[in-house]
Amino acid sequence: MHEVGLVDGIVEAVQRRAGERRVAGFRVRIGTLHRAHQGPMDQALELVAADTNLEGAVMELVQIPVTMTCRSCATVETSEDVSAVCTACGSTDIDHAGGDELTLESVEYAAAAEPVASAAG
Ligand SMILES: [Zn+2]
Repeated sequence: MHEVGLVDGIVEAVQRRAGERRVAGFRVRIGTLHRAHQGPMDQALELVAADTNLEGAVMELVQIPVTMTCRSCATVETSEDVSAVCTACGSTDIDHAGGDELTLESVEYAAAAEPVASAAG
């Protein structure tokens, strides 16, 4: 489950930004090469964020595709994977860019009044 490693890094980044504040949700720009699908990532987050200020936070993943520029015919296309062949001319002389980013875009904090604060003791 490689998602746990990914989410671990993301949670660390969120906590660096959030400090002690309770996090309601956050948005991450993630390249498709990370193979980070929402379902497994949510499960990983549940594990990693348990008993932290991120518990219950909603993670929004923005998938960033790979951009491929053909050096032969200058065709630019985006893909979810690294393709070795230009679909326009068949050339294998291709520049790949992106698809591997992992950027914390925004963090949304929970309201100061926490519903869980009513517990006695
Ligand atoms: Zn081409």
